[in-house]
Amino acid sequence: MSSTNGTILEVKNLKQYFPIHAGFFQRVVANVKAVDGVSFSLQAGEVLGLVGESGCGKTTTGRSILRLYDPTDGEVWYHKTNGERVDVTKLSQEEMKPLRREMRMIFQDPFSSLNPRMTVRDLIGEPLVIHHVARGKELDERVGELMSSVGLNPSFMRRYPHEFSGGQRQRIGLARTLSLNPRLIVADEPVSALDVSVQAQVINLLQELQRDLGLTLLFIAHDLSVVEHICDRIAVMYVGKLVEVAESEELLRNPKHPYTEALVSAVPPADPDIQMQRIILEGDVPSPVNPPAGCVFHPRCRYAKDICKQEEPQLIEIKPGHHVSCHLAAELDLTGIVES
Ligand code: SF4
Repeated sequence: MSSTNGTILEVKNLKQYFPIHAGFFQRVVANVKAVDGVSFSLQAGEVLGLVGESGCGKTTTGRSILRLYDPTDGEVWYHKTNGERVDVTKLSQEEMKPLRREMRMIFQDPFSSLNPRMTVRDLIGEPLVIHHVARGKELDERVGELMSSVGLNPSFMRRYPHEFSGGQRQRIGLARTLSLNPRLIVADEPVSALDVSVQAQVINLLQELQRDLGLTLLFIAHDLSVVEHICDRIAVMYVGKLVEVAESEELLRNPKHPYTEALVSAVPPADPDIQMQRIILEGDVPSPVNPPAGCVFHPRCRYAKDICKQEEPQLIEIKPGHHVSCHLAAELDLTGIVES
């Protein structure tokens, strides 16, 4: 089949369950429903933020899309440059190999994701060697170019990761990710392990590279303040499900899900004269092994009604491009969190 528009990725009802084994025969007694029916699409050149608390399933979603896990159910359609589209969930690891050049991941922790025994030249050049793209002098030149493109001095290519700061190590990881000219990158909390002072530098660099190279980015983060400036759209995830998806500005100014409302209230306002009423959610995130009936958010929702405990809301489009999963989306006015 061929793609009819600029879509690069379609995720349909993706599920990733991890079985829990117990007893003498190690029978499956339950499942951790890390991702439970997630659907969204990505346009070529778009940056989509995937946001939610730790353990909500956002990293698992990214890993399942790239087939670092074998999804339990659902479809992940990747649109190739020649117009063909393939469901990556149905491909063997062998069939995935050529796609691994185009679909890459930036890892969260620049300290543990780089092999400390390899030089920067070998770390950045490794994907080029594995995929038979370059070697010898040509490899050195390409590594040098990649280092320059992420703001690193190419004369440092014989050094080891421990000789660099956290921000520089994330740049090394970025150069390694970019080495094969990917089209789609899943950036898994790429700045959360860095000092606040260098987070903005790395995000700005990522934004520049995304624009210059026309990359499509799924940017995973646990708070909205990290993604608000870089993302075109934001998807909010809670206990394995998407609860709201909208364009960034729309989501931040006009949240329609009570969970998004709480996340938005935690974002420091750009204008210091604006006072935000911070919403502190009561209770803990429920276990994905045994999520609550009805709306998964109802035990923590200050607006919950009886219907919320009984019926699971569906993610529906309430206006063009704005999808919400809440029974009361039409009647709640959540913009009152902003007080001038
Ligand atoms: Fe709250 Fe009910 Fe909406 Fe869930 S469906 S977010 S419990 S109001």
